[in-house]
Amino acid sequence: MTQAETTPRTGKRVLLASPRGYCAGVDRAVQTVEEALKLYGAPIYVRKEIVHNKHVVRTLEAKGAVFVEENAEVPEGATVIFSAHGVAPEVYEQAKARSLKAIDATCPLVTKVHQEAKRFAAEDYDILLIGHEGHEEVVGTAGEAPAHIQLVDGPDGVDKVTVRDPNKVVWLSQTTLSVDETLETVARLKSRLPLLQSPPSDDICYATSNRQHVVKEIAPDCDVVIVVGSRNSSNSVRLVEVALDAGARAGHLVDFAHEIDDAWLTGAGTVGVTSGASVPDELVQDVLAHLAGRGFTDVEEITTADERLTFSLPQELKRDMKAAAARA
Ligand code: SF4
Repeated sequence: MTQAETTPRTGKRVLLASPRGYCAGVDRAVQTVEEALKLYGAPIYVRKEIVHNKHVVRTLEAKGAVFVEENAEVPEGATVIFSAHGVAPEVYEQAKARSLKAIDATCPLVTKVHQEAKRFAAEDYDILLIGHEGHEEVVGTAGEAPAHIQLVDGPDGVDKVTVRDPNKVVWLSQTTLSVDETLETVARLKSRLPLLQSPPSDDICYATSNRQHVVKEIAPDCDVVIVVGSRNSSNSVRLVEVALDAGARAGHLVDFAHEIDDAWLTGAGTVGVTSGASVPDELVQDVLAHLAGRGFTDVEEITTADERLTFSLPQELKRDMKAAAARA
């Protein structure tokens, strides 16, 4: 029996998921931009959204970050930060060619998948990368070994897979997928390729798994689950899907509290609230205040994991911070 099921259903209540919001990789990436702005001064260029969240991007823009799509938009010699989602090796080459000072805010758990891709490619494996076509992380990982990697975009992508040697195939994945859907994709791949190897450790990261797990716990008790997150945030979108699959009567993704439609709450007794890994908690607090204003004042936090992981800032930035401190 879950904690949620032990709570009597009286009146209007909120089940607040924990863990939710910022993960270690996002926290590090946002801090990287903030510290770079303090150290080098504005403008600091950031290739792609540092993390997929509208509020975070707007807040950093207001402090002097300039978001660009490609290195070609960055003035020669300027500082550019690569986003948490990771980049292909050619992006480093482009930065070098333009004499950019590059700071890599790729999440170390994405870097781990890049290392796996490089290693299996060096051993001449065919690599089946499970992920969403066009997602920045997938583009970056595939760029490590384009000749060896083919994308499998969910269970329906399995039939298109062709390999050179069925004895030498491994699957890897994007870090922010649905755990259950990925298991289904792998099962289908294995029915076609019985000798398919698995990654040495989980590619779907702890933060993605933990946020999905707690949503599964609360969803069966919820009339509606509100996920705070942006539409281009893979892990946030997955949370809505997971909530619906786990029995929530309805699920909605919002960037901000004011996007909540009162019609979603009509007749609802229990509202679940969570947020994606790129969402600062102040946006969740805004949602709770919004719900409280509509009678949902009874908030119960449901915790299924304790997260303590932190990542240190990128080496290149730490080195400059240390040098600046020594000069001061
Ligand atoms: S969601 Fe996972 S992989 Fe992505 S930044 Fe956070 S910890 Fe890293």
